[in-house]
Amino acid sequence: MNSPVQQIKERLSIEEVVSSYIKLEKVGTNLKAKCPFHNEKTPSFFISQDRGTYYCFGCGVSGDIFSFVEEFEGLDFKGALALLANRSGVKLGHFSKEKESEKDKLIQAMEAATLHFINNLQDNKEALEYLKSRGLEEKSIKDFKIGFAKDAWRDLYDFLKSKGFDDIEIEKAGLAKKTEKGFYDRFRNRIIFPISDSSGRIIAFSGRLFDSVPTPKKTIVEAKYLNSPDTPIFNKSAVLYGLDKAKNSIRKNNFSILVEGQMDLILSHQVNYRNTIATSGTALSDSEMSRENVVSNLGLVRRLSNNLVLAFDGDKAGISATNRAGKIALSLGMDVKIAILPEGLDPADLIFKNGTDAWKTAIKNSKHIIEFLLEKILKNFDGDSRRIGREVKEKILPYINALSSSIEKAHFLKRTSDLTSISINALEEDLKRIEQEQKYEKREIENSLESSNNLHRKDYITRKLLGIIFWQKSLSEESIDTDKILLELSEIL
Ligand SMILES: [Zn+2]
Repeated sequence: MNSPVQQIKERLSIEEVVSSYIKLEKVGTNLKAKCPFHNEKTPSFFISQDRGTYYCFGCGVSGDIFSFVEEFEGLDFKGALALLANRSGVKLGHFSKEKESEKDKLIQAMEAATLHFINNLQDNKEALEYLKSRGLEEKSIKDFKIGFAKDAWRDLYDFLKSKGFDDIEIEKAGLAKKTEKGFYDRFRNRIIFPISDSSGRIIAFSGRLFDSVPTPKKTIVEAKYLNSPDTPIFNKSAVLYGLDKAKNSIRKNNFSILVEGQMDLILSHQVNYRNTIATSGTALSDSEMSRENVVSNLGLVRRLSNNLVLAFDGDKAGISATNRAGKIALSLGMDVKIAILPEGLDPADLIFKNGTDAWKTAIKNSKHIIEFLLEKILKNFDGDSRRIGREVKEKILPYINALSSSIEKAHFLKRTSDLTSISINALEEDLKRIEQEQKYEKREIENSLESSNNLHRKDYITRKLLGIIFWQKSLSEESIDTDKILLELSEIL
């Protein structure tokens, strides 16, 4: 029998797979599109239906449906295989024990742990009640596989051991820590939110501290949120919470809503804003998170839609996270808006207390990030024009500089000038200075995007040659014998 890979390729055409992510145009017998892996205005991404392959003249990416899904969804090969198998209805079957890689084992441990946590939650009335009191419906608790880690040292560890997992697997999956006295569970007394990759495999947990009865005797203040550490299956930096459930809706609605916490996300999904993703407590708001990581997170979202609405808490940390993510998103050429929430409310509170319409209104009335920042400055304007000049220079111009379109830049310069009465010339002068100062930072952002898109590239000459072949194939009459060249090329490789 054919291998699963072949079976999937027989059932799913490259056109079918790629067109479910991006818009395709016909050119002769081929198809073209704007490349999803680099920023471009005219299409240079070509698809050969006969070969079942794609190639981009602009950045050189090439491959088949599997590599496309890997790159687009940020998955490894097995993740792409699982996703396409599911889509095509091909059964993958079970690999024999010896063939299982370490990653497979860790993913199985995560699955077992998830089921255990789900059972724990069903037995814990207080935690269930707490979730319901925050507005979570039973269906959401089930859909998002929310669970509970008992307030015990080795509850999960003992369970996994009884299921045949060994110490090394449990530790490597980030589920237990080793001490001199033996192993103990990493997650204790926490509500557990599983984090999935975009093919739906659970690769990490985020645990929210659950204080049913606040105990004063506790002297160590525990972190409210605790996430899995980096493991062979989880790279803290690269996963947004809920992306697996949000991706289709983001594509369909052509915008994404980025919130901070899991509760925010689940409540937003519950009221049918399924295009919501969350930073799961750390990712973008953590100031220790490197810029490169923020870029790779946002880069993944950008492939689904260029339009982003940030909806963070109105508190100070929220605002600075908004600013950081917002500036980087602008640099990536995204259109960034800010949803303005009533003071003291996060999206979950707003939806639960003020209702779906309040959330709808906040999203609908979201403002371009530069408009939002301008308004904030003007609100505190006390007639001191020198101060406002300084604030524009510090808080507005860096964002205008981050814009990738010159038309947009001109628009916001004029807007700033109109609202503050600072002359356009003066603004342009200062902007030039900022351009110089931030040249390095901007290039770094572009480079990190490049490198996060660059994982699977073949070497330069192969790319160029394939490019020429695809171009020739798209012509009505080929002027070189492309089949012969392809044959020779594959022999050399
Ligand atoms: Zn490209």
